[in-house]
Amino acid sequence: MTQHLTAPILAAWIREFGQLVSNHKDRLNALDAAIGDADHGTNLDRGFRVVVAGLDATRSSPGDLLGHVGGTVISNVGGAAGPLFGAFFLGLGEALGDETTVDADRFATGLRAGLAGVVARGRADSGDKTMYDALAPAVEAFAGTGDLRGTLQVAVRAAESGRDATIGMLARKGRASYLGERSVGHQDPGATSAALLFTAAAHALT
Ligand code: ADP
Ligand code: MG
Repeated sequence: MTQHLTAPILAAWIREFGQLVSNHKDRLNALDAAIGDADHGTNLDRGFRVVVAGLDATRSSPGDLLGHVGGTVISNVGGAAGPLFGAFFLGLGEALGDETTVDADRFATGLRAGLAGVVARGRADSGDKTMYDALAPAVEAFAGTGDLRGTLQVAVRAAESGRDATIGMLARKGRASYLGERSVGHQDPGATSAALLFTAAAHALT
Protein backbone atom coordinates (compact mmCIF):
# COMPACT_ATOMS: atom_id res chain seq x y z
CA MET A 1 0.00 0.00 0.00
CA THR A 2 1.30 3.39 -0.92
CA GLN A 3 0.93 5.69 2.06
CA HIS A 4 3.39 8.32 0.96
CA LEU A 5 2.47 10.06 -2.24
CA THR A 6 5.13 11.41 -4.57
CA ALA A 7 4.97 13.51 -7.74
CA PRO A 8 5.15 10.45 -10.07
CA ILE A 9 2.29 8.75 -8.19
CA LEU A 10 0.12 11.87 -8.43
CA ALA A 11 1.02 12.19 -12.11
CA ALA A 12 -0.35 8.64 -12.53
CA TRP A 13 -3.62 9.82 -10.91
CA ILE A 14 -3.98 12.63 -13.44
CA ARG A 15 -3.13 10.28 -16.30
CA GLU A 16 -5.74 7.78 -15.06
CA PHE A 17 -8.37 10.52 -14.79
CA GLY A 18 -7.56 11.60 -18.36
CA GLN A 19 -8.08 8.02 -19.49
CA LEU A 20 -11.42 7.67 -17.64
CA VAL A 21 -12.63 11.00 -19.05
CA SER A 22 -11.74 9.81 -22.53
CA ASN A 23 -13.55 6.48 -21.95
CA HIS A 24 -16.65 8.30 -20.62
CA LYS A 25 -16.62 11.25 -23.01
CA ASP A 26 -19.80 10.30 -24.87
CA ARG A 27 -21.65 9.52 -21.63
CA LEU A 28 -20.65 12.90 -20.13
CA ASN A 29 -21.76 14.69 -23.30
CA ALA A 30 -25.09 12.83 -23.25
CA LEU A 31 -25.73 13.80 -19.62
CA ASP A 32 -24.90 17.42 -20.48
CA ALA A 33 -27.19 17.25 -23.54
CA ALA A 34 -30.14 16.60 -21.22
CA ILE A 35 -29.63 19.64 -18.96
CA GLY A 36 -26.95 21.74 -20.67
CA ASP A 37 -25.17 22.06 -23.99
CA ALA A 38 -23.72 18.59 -24.57
CA ASP A 39 -20.07 19.59 -24.28
CA HIS A 40 -18.94 18.44 -20.82
CA GLY A 41 -17.20 15.27 -22.05
CA THR A 42 -15.60 17.07 -24.98
CA ASN A 43 -14.43 19.97 -22.78
CA LEU A 44 -12.76 17.65 -20.28
CA ASP A 45 -11.33 15.23 -22.82
CA ARG A 46 -9.81 17.95 -24.99
CA GLY A 47 -8.32 19.81 -22.01
CA PHE A 48 -7.00 16.78 -20.13
CA ARG A 49 -5.22 15.54 -23.24
CA VAL A 50 -3.19 18.75 -23.04
CA VAL A 51 -2.77 18.39 -19.26
CA VAL A 52 -1.61 14.77 -19.55
CA ALA A 53 0.77 15.57 -22.41
CA GLY A 54 2.34 18.29 -20.26
CA LEU A 55 2.66 16.20 -17.09
CA ASP A 56 6.17 16.36 -15.75
CA ALA A 57 6.56 13.60 -13.18
CA THR A 58 10.11 14.80 -12.54
CA ARG A 59 8.67 17.86 -10.77
CA SER A 60 10.16 17.79 -7.32
CA SER A 61 6.97 17.80 -5.27
CA PRO A 62 3.31 16.76 -5.43
CA GLY A 63 2.33 20.36 -4.66
CA ASP A 64 4.34 21.73 -7.56
CA LEU A 65 2.97 19.07 -9.92
CA LEU A 66 -0.68 19.59 -8.97
CA GLY A 67 -0.39 23.39 -8.91
CA HIS A 68 0.91 23.19 -12.46
CA VAL A 69 -1.95 20.82 -13.38
CA GLY A 70 -4.41 23.39 -11.99
CA GLY A 71 -3.01 26.16 -14.17
CA THR A 72 -3.05 23.94 -17.26
CA VAL A 73 -6.64 22.86 -16.55
CA ILE A 74 -7.76 26.49 -16.25
CA SER A 75 -6.09 27.38 -19.56
CA ASN A 76 -7.24 24.32 -21.49
CA VAL A 77 -10.50 22.91 -20.15
CA GLY A 78 -13.49 24.82 -21.45
CA GLY A 79 -16.94 25.42 -20.02
CA ALA A 80 -17.90 26.26 -16.46
CA ALA A 81 -16.28 23.05 -15.26
CA GLY A 82 -12.77 23.94 -16.51
CA PRO A 83 -12.05 26.79 -14.07
CA LEU A 84 -13.78 24.82 -11.29
CA PHE A 85 -11.64 21.70 -11.73
CA GLY A 86 -8.67 24.05 -12.15
CA ALA A 87 -9.46 25.74 -8.83
CA PHE A 88 -9.63 22.30 -7.21
CA PHE A 89 -6.12 21.33 -8.35
CA LEU A 90 -4.68 24.78 -7.58
CA GLY A 91 -6.06 24.66 -4.03
CA LEU A 92 -4.85 21.09 -3.59
CA GLY A 93 -1.38 21.83 -4.96
CA GLU A 94 -0.93 24.92 -2.85
CA ALA A 95 -1.96 23.12 0.34
CA LEU A 96 0.50 20.27 -0.32
CA GLY A 97 3.39 22.75 -0.27
CA ASP A 98 6.84 21.69 -1.45
CA GLU A 99 7.42 18.51 0.53
CA THR A 100 8.62 15.72 -1.76
CA THR A 101 6.28 13.17 -0.16
CA VAL A 102 2.76 13.62 1.15
CA ASP A 103 1.08 11.38 3.70
CA ALA A 104 -2.64 10.57 3.87
CA ASP A 105 -3.37 13.29 6.42
CA ARG A 106 -1.67 15.97 4.36
CA PHE A 107 -3.48 14.73 1.28
CA ALA A 108 -6.81 15.01 3.15
CA THR A 109 -5.97 18.60 4.10
CA GLY A 110 -5.10 19.28 0.46
CA LEU A 111 -8.40 17.87 -0.78
CA ARG A 112 -10.30 20.14 1.62
CA ALA A 113 -8.37 23.12 0.25
CA GLY A 114 -9.20 22.00 -3.30
CA LEU A 115 -12.89 21.80 -2.43
CA ALA A 116 -12.69 25.26 -0.85
CA GLY A 117 -11.21 26.50 -4.15
CA VAL A 118 -14.22 25.13 -6.04
CA VAL A 119 -16.61 26.84 -3.63
CA ALA A 120 -14.70 30.14 -3.76
CA ARG A 121 -15.02 30.09 -7.53
CA GLY A 122 -18.54 28.69 -8.06
CA ARG A 123 -20.38 29.33 -4.77
CA ALA A 124 -22.16 25.99 -4.99
CA ASP A 125 -23.57 24.41 -1.88
CA SER A 126 -24.78 20.91 -1.24
CA GLY A 127 -28.02 20.14 -3.07
CA ASP A 128 -27.41 22.63 -5.90
CA LYS A 129 -26.91 19.74 -8.39
CA THR A 130 -23.27 20.35 -9.29
CA MET A 131 -19.88 18.67 -9.05
CA TYR A 132 -19.88 19.83 -5.42
CA ASP A 133 -22.46 17.17 -4.58
CA ALA A 134 -19.96 14.43 -5.54
CA LEU A 135 -16.76 16.18 -4.44
CA ALA A 136 -17.86 17.24 -0.96
CA PRO A 137 -18.87 13.79 0.37
CA ALA A 138 -15.74 12.24 -1.16
CA VAL A 139 -13.50 14.82 0.54
CA GLU A 140 -15.48 14.32 3.75
CA ALA A 141 -14.55 10.62 3.65
CA PHE A 142 -10.93 11.64 4.34
CA ALA A 143 -11.70 13.19 7.71
CA GLY A 144 -9.84 11.57 10.57
CA THR A 145 -8.17 8.53 9.06
CA GLY A 146 -4.69 7.47 8.03
CA ASP A 147 -5.36 4.43 5.81
CA LEU A 148 -5.28 5.70 2.27
CA ARG A 149 -6.51 2.59 0.49
CA GLY A 150 -9.57 2.11 2.71
CA THR A 151 -10.33 5.81 2.68
CA LEU A 152 -10.19 5.99 -1.11
CA GLN A 153 -12.66 3.13 -1.39
CA VAL A 154 -15.06 4.92 0.97
CA ALA A 155 -14.48 8.17 -0.95
CA VAL A 156 -15.39 6.54 -4.28
CA ARG A 157 -18.64 5.20 -2.85
CA ALA A 158 -19.42 8.60 -1.29
CA ALA A 159 -18.75 10.40 -4.59
CA GLU A 160 -20.95 7.92 -6.47
CA SER A 161 -23.86 8.26 -4.04
CA GLY A 162 -23.49 12.05 -4.19
CA ARG A 163 -23.50 11.83 -7.98
CA ASP A 164 -26.59 9.60 -7.98
CA ALA A 165 -28.38 11.95 -5.57
CA THR A 166 -28.09 14.77 -8.13
CA ILE A 167 -30.73 12.99 -10.24
CA GLY A 168 -33.49 14.12 -7.88
CA MET A 169 -32.13 17.64 -7.38
CA LEU A 170 -33.28 20.88 -8.93
CA ALA A 171 -30.27 22.73 -10.41
CA ARG A 172 -29.46 26.03 -8.72
CA LYS A 173 -26.08 26.74 -10.33
CA GLY A 174 -24.71 26.75 -13.85
CA ARG A 175 -26.44 26.24 -17.16
CA ALA A 176 -28.79 23.52 -15.85
CA SER A 177 -30.35 26.06 -13.46
CA TYR A 178 -31.96 27.79 -16.47
CA LEU A 179 -34.21 24.72 -16.77
CA GLY A 180 -35.71 25.06 -13.30
CA GLU A 181 -38.02 22.10 -12.55
CA ARG A 182 -37.09 20.45 -15.84
CA SER A 183 -33.59 19.80 -14.49
CA VAL A 184 -35.05 17.30 -12.00
CA GLY A 185 -34.69 13.64 -13.04
CA HIS A 186 -31.29 14.03 -14.74
CA GLN A 187 -27.85 13.17 -13.38
CA ASP A 188 -25.47 16.10 -13.24
CA PRO A 189 -22.56 15.76 -15.69
CA GLY A 190 -20.03 17.56 -13.46
CA ALA A 191 -20.90 15.37 -10.48
CA THR A 192 -20.35 12.39 -12.78
CA SER A 193 -16.85 13.51 -13.84
CA ALA A 194 -16.00 14.49 -10.26
CA ALA A 195 -16.79 10.92 -9.17
CA LEU A 196 -14.40 9.66 -11.88
CA LEU A 197 -11.65 11.75 -10.28
CA PHE A 198 -11.94 9.61 -7.13
CA THR A 199 -12.22 6.37 -9.09
CA ALA A 200 -8.94 7.38 -10.76
CA ALA A 201 -7.43 8.14 -7.36
CA ALA A 202 -8.44 4.72 -6.01
CA HIS A 203 -6.74 3.07 -9.00
CA ALA A 204 -3.59 5.16 -9.05
CA LEU A 205 -2.83 6.05 -5.44
CA THR A 206 -2.93 2.62 -3.75
P1 ADP B 1 -20.90 24.58 -19.35
O1 ADP B 1 -22.10 24.50 -18.46
O2 ADP B 1 -20.29 25.94 -19.40
O3 ADP B 1 -21.17 24.00 -20.71
P2 ADP B 1 -19.61 22.09 -18.64
O4 ADP B 1 -20.68 21.44 -19.44
O5 ADP B 1 -18.21 21.69 -18.98
O6 ADP B 1 -19.75 23.66 -18.67
O7 ADP B 1 -19.80 21.73 -17.10
C1 ADP B 1 -21.08 21.71 -16.51
C2 ADP B 1 -20.92 21.26 -15.06
O8 ADP B 1 -20.26 22.27 -14.31
C3 ADP B 1 -22.24 21.05 -14.35
O9 ADP B 1 -22.70 19.73 -14.58
C4 ADP B 1 -21.90 21.30 -12.89
O10 ADP B 1 -21.52 20.10 -12.22
C5 ADP B 1 -20.70 22.19 -12.97
N1 ADP B 1 -21.00 23.54 -12.49
C6 ADP B 1 -21.59 24.55 -13.17
N2 ADP B 1 -21.67 25.65 -12.41
C7 ADP B 1 -21.13 25.34 -11.21
C8 ADP B 1 -20.90 26.05 -9.97
N3 ADP B 1 -21.24 27.34 -9.85
N4 ADP B 1 -20.30 25.39 -8.96
C9 ADP B 1 -19.94 24.09 -9.09
N5 ADP B 1 -20.11 23.37 -10.23
C10 ADP B 1 -20.70 23.98 -11.26
MG1 MG C 1 -21.81 22.09 -21.01
